[in-house]
Amino acid sequence: MSKAFASQADLEEKQVTFTKLSDHAYAYTAEGDPNTGIVVGDDAVMVIDTQATPVMAQDVIRRIREVTDKPIRYVMLSHYHAVRVLGASAYGAEHVIASQDTYDLIGERGEADKASEIGRFPRLFRNVESVPAGLTWPTITFTGKMTLWLGKLEVQLLQVGRGHTKGDTVVWLPQDRVLFSGDLVEFDATPYAGDAYFQDWPQTLDNITALKPLALVPGRGAALQGEAQVAKGLAGTRAFVSELYDSVRQGATAGKDLKAVYRETCEKLRPSYGHWVIFDHCMPFDVTSA
Ligand SMILES: [Zn+2]
Repeated sequence: MSKAFASQADLEEKQVTFTKLSDHAYAYTAEGDPNTGIVVGDDAVMVIDTQATPVMAQDVIRRIREVTDKPIRYVMLSHYHAVRVLGASAYGAEHVIASQDTYDLIGERGEADKASEIGRFPRLFRNVESVPAGLTWPTITFTGKMTLWLGKLEVQLLQVGRGHTKGDTVVWLPQDRVLFSGDLVEFDATPYAGDAYFQDWPQTLDNITALKPLALVPGRGAALQGEAQVAKGLAGTRAFVSELYDSVRQGATAGKDLKAVYRETCEKLRPSYGHWVIFDHCMPFDVTSA
């Protein structure tokens, strides 16, 4: 019999925080569960990553309605993972936007990822029966960069490099200097690297740093406010990704098998990162992928 995933026993409800980051940006965070970003433009609202089910998304909508009655016109998917996309139908948005690379990943791995994430993380898929059959398909895709104008508010969707997946997209508000990173950046939460590009990820984080965000909404963990906190989030993610990859490379170069490399890498990283949420859940995927 295979050992149950650490996350299957993880059933505790998390406390939601709804944080205003600028005149146009809000963060919906939940103590390390997947975050949602909200951009309120002059004429419409954009939701960045949807929550895992339509019922869970209703709580995001309730928070949005506490601050604006503008229509939720756009849903933006930072990448293809099920916990980010399966709540999309709740918003009734006119458009679901993603990079073409994310669109391609939905086709290649969407069904498999949906089945495996729901199986591994039942708590994250509250009222999973509310998820419509099939997959969430973008209605608009782009490559590299796309700019939306929500009235006078400029919203840039940027592929600044691969990292967490090949389709990673960040949302950047140049006027407010607020960035929504998706899972490219985590805070007090373990990066999942099952689809990752380890050799690209640090450079991608440099490209985010170069934008000089004043606030950053990570994929998981609290919203980062002020340059010092943003730098801390970027540095923590980079350190984890680099140390994990170095450890696996050393083990593989020495001819050790996956089991030994996994054990050694967990031992090396646990003192620094073992307290981050989903550490035990991510490590088997991260080491195997590296
Ligand atoms: Zn992800």
